[in-house]
Amino acid sequence: MVIGVLALQGAFIEHENTLNKLDIDCFEIRKCSDIERDYDGLILPGGESTVMGKLLRESGLFKPLKDKIQACIPVMGTCAGLILLASEIADSDTVHFGTLPVTVKRNAYGRQLGSFYTESNFDDIGVVPMKFIRAPYIQSVKDGVKILAVVENHIIAVRYQNQLGIAYHPELTDSLAVHRYFINMIKGTDEI
Ligand code: GLN
Repeated sequence: MVIGVLALQGAFIEHENTLNKLDIDCFEIRKCSDIERDYDGLILPGGESTVMGKLLRESGLFKPLKDKIQACIPVMGTCAGLILLASEIADSDTVHFGTLPVTVKRNAYGRQLGSFYTESNFDDIGVVPMKFIRAPYIQSVKDGVKILAVVENHIIAVRYQNQLGIAYHPELTDSLAVHRYFINMIKGTDEI
């Protein structure tokens, strides 16, 4: 199994480190020729969605990556990566890939709670550590979206078909469980 990690900006190295711990091969996607390689899954890391959106368009990666996601490659978007996937961003006309039918609220926790750590239940996995950094939450979901985790009454992880959207940074915690979940999604088993 090989996973491509979008490496234009943000916390991509931390995802690579987590995959290395799980003995999963990965490579960085930076330019169009990288997209043509053979791989089984895709990770969109956290960072700054406006910057990533701009770099995606400038680099020519936007359309081929969107095509890949629409062609059902398993994809995990964390934090800004979730924002890239969302079909709607609250109080904004901007949409990036727009393939995940949810509305996200950016920087949803305000300045005071911009960054925080908690431990909470993740469906099918159990309690996992969660690191939030200027995180979004998911304000609403459309039909067919499975809610995987809720923290303080806000949806923070969902699954829709080939897409896994997570509002926090699993790659910045010691737990490998969410990446393992994604790997099982790629294998098409869903077993943890
Ligand atoms: N606040 C960032 C955004 O809106 C997301 C933060 C993150 O990825 N840690 O894109």
